[in-house]
Amino acid sequence: MSNVQNTLSIIKPDAVERNLVDEIKIIFRKNNLEIKESKKIHITKEEAAEFYKVHQSKPFYNDLCSYLSSGPIVVMILSGENAVLKNRKVMGATDPKKAEENTIRKLYGISIDKNSVHGSDSIQNAKIEIDFFFKN
Ligand code: UDP
Ligand code: MG
Repeated sequence: MSNVQNTLSIIKPDAVERNLVDEIKIIFRKNNLEIKESKKIHITKEEAAEFYKVHQSKPFYNDLCSYLSSGPIVVMILSGENAVLKNRKVMGATDPKKAEENTIRKLYGISIDKNSVHGSDSIQNAKIEIDFFFKN
């Protein structure tokens, strides 16, 4: 039975700045993640704080919000079979040093904070995160 899902992906400032957007998009398409929507935006620190509010009690929260709002990002809706988990596998582990070979974070991530991409971690969060950037 087919299980087509949508998920939210973000190409973070470190990767946009290094002109990696096209290379990263090629990796999604190669893995059968269709890019249904894509836009380049620059969010405020307040918007980043809202987006990442699940992490508000973490020691890295303030730096994370500053970072995500530090430059342009590309937000995308990816669609495909088991897209939520598929995207997480294609991204690789949060810490690029621990990410598997050929994952986006292994290929391009600089550090645990500048790790080039975000991806929703569940179907429920994918819906919330897609609405956050693409409602209206
Ligand atoms: N992060 C960080 N330091 C940490 C853990 C996470 O700066 O020790 C940042 C990193 O950019 C990560 C984001 O916070 O992508 C969200 O953390 P999460 O644990 O949700 O990782 P992800 O879902 O992005 O793999
Ligand atoms: Mg996460």
